[in-house]
Amino acid sequence: MKIKIRNKFKFIYAIVIIIVLITLVITLIVTNIKNKSIDTAIKETKVEENIALANATLYNIKENINSRLNDWKLILVNKENYLPDNYEVNLKTINGNMKVDERIYNDLKNMLNDAKKENLDLLICSSYRSTSKQKKLFNDKIKEYKNKGYSDEEAYKEASYWVLIPGTSEHETGLSVDIVSIDNQVLDENQEKTKEQKWLMENSYKYGFILRYPTNKKDITGVNYEPWHYRYVGKENALQIKKLNVCLEEYIEILKESLNKTE
Ligand SMILES: [Zn+2]
Repeated sequence: MKIKIRNKFKFIYAIVIIIVLITLVITLIVTNIKNKSIDTAIKETKVEENIALANATLYNIKENINSRLNDWKLILVNKENYLPDNYEVNLKTINGNMKVDERIYNDLKNMLNDAKKENLDLLICSSYRSTSKQKKLFNDKIKEYKNKGYSDEEAYKEASYWVLIPGTSEHETGLSVDIVSIDNQVLDENQEKTKEQKWLMENSYKYGFILRYPTNKKDITGVNYEPWHYRYVGKENALQIKKLNVCLEEYIEILKESLNKTE
């Protein structure tokens, strides 16, 4: 009888141990699953945070490129891109009777002053030109050819070779200046040999200006080499354009392409 009771006790004891063990295993499994799901949740949150961060950065880049492209400093005026009819410009007089967009006045003045410190005399020989002035120049040229016996069509073609069609000259923006050396006031390619032009080509970007029609970009700009025509694009853009060794048309294209890549 005693043995039976002891066996019964052992049996219950074994059952209890088994139940405890099973509970323990189940607890371990459940805890493990819980931990795993917490880990996954943390990881997912991190991924979401990173995606949000990446989106924000991308958004900033897009905004930055967009605002650059739409900025007045990058207005593109050439044979294909006419100045808008409603284009308005507030002018400020510099060096006696030259007029430029007032927003570029300070940088232009600093450039001239700093050149002066290097004993270089820069002379602005052309600056803002109203569209009506451009029209007059253009019509005078047409007349010149018609007087030589050219037909209307031929005269127009010849004139547009020498004078930019009204609405397509950068001088109408007030953002461009023709600068020559005081010792060489002729607009020819010898300009590039003067110490003034050499200094300008090297330093103008620091003041936000670019050499607008470089000799190796004729095919893209559609304008012959003009080592005297400088265009204001702002310091940031001028630095990039110099680094990339591109002309304004190419630079705008690069900005547009990088905007497309972020879409
Ligand atoms: Zn010019």
